[in-house]
Amino acid sequence: MPYKDKEKQKEYQKKYQKKYRQENKGKRKKYYGRYKEKVKKYYRENKEKIKKYSKNNRKKYNYKSPEVKQRNKEYRQTHKEESKEYYQENKEKFKKYNKEFYQENRGKFLKNWKKYYQEHKGEILKRTKEHNKKQEVKERIKKYFQRPEVKEKSKKYYQENQEYFKEKSKKYRQENQDKIKKYRQTPKEKERMRRKDHKRRIQIKHIGFQTGNYTIIQITQLRISSNGICPKCNRYFGAENLTIDHKQPISKGGGNNIKNIQLLCKSCNSSKGNRWDGMIFDEIKGGKQKWMKN
Ligand SMILES: [Zn+2]
Repeated sequence: MPYKDKEKQKEYQKKYQKKYRQENKGKRKKYYGRYKEKVKKYYRENKEKIKKYSKNNRKKYNYKSPEVKQRNKEYRQTHKEESKEYYQENKEKFKKYNKEFYQENRGKFLKNWKKYYQEHKGEILKRTKEHNKKQEVKERIKKYFQRPEVKEKSKKYYQENQEYFKEKSKKYRQENQDKIKKYRQTPKEKERMRRKDHKRRIQIKHIGFQTGNYTIIQITQLRISSNGICPKCNRYFGAENLTIDHKQPISKGGGNNIKNIQLLCKSCNSSKGNRWDGMIFDEIKGGKQKWMKN
């Protein structure tokens, strides 16, 4: 996969030739002078022959000419098995080489790809869509996004570009209202919404509030391990009087999971001010939803 940057190559050649000529000025003159007449004579006498020969050679070895292309194609077809074998034997080497080559020329590749993409956008998107519809591809994509490092990466990316994504989906919703309305009427989506609603109702009924990504058991464990002491002011309040606080506020990218949750007394929690979401909720009493504004 050679990368052809004609302009750069020419520039480099010119530079190199100039340098070579300067460095070997005397030598070249001496050498050329000795054979000057001889060469000139030979050229004069064999002009037609030389011209023909070089023309033929150009044709023969120019990788752009149709003949050479055809020849290469035929060669590849007749030596398919061999090259496959060769590739298999040297797979690691090839991979390494390609990777290194890509890393070195990444900028150029991307630039070229971008240009190509702009020119063939519709075609590429259509092809990709068709390709992604295949079952095995679907599964591969699914598997890819289940990898923990990918999950972590996309989560981070989402958090960093939250505004952008929100804006985008808002725009999409506004522009495709009819489409969404229609989609919500499909049996599949109806079923999904029904299940979601059911889950929410069960949570409210049994737990008393909508959990995020943490469970009532985790919060209870946290209460027990706190011994009723607020970790911020170190005073005793009783486990049931501690309130749930997000260490890193959700508004500032914090997650709604147990790792990001601590139990503070009401006073410490409110002194955190707008750095928390302002809600105190009691998840134990009566099993009922009970929200209290701070
Ligand atoms: Zn406190």
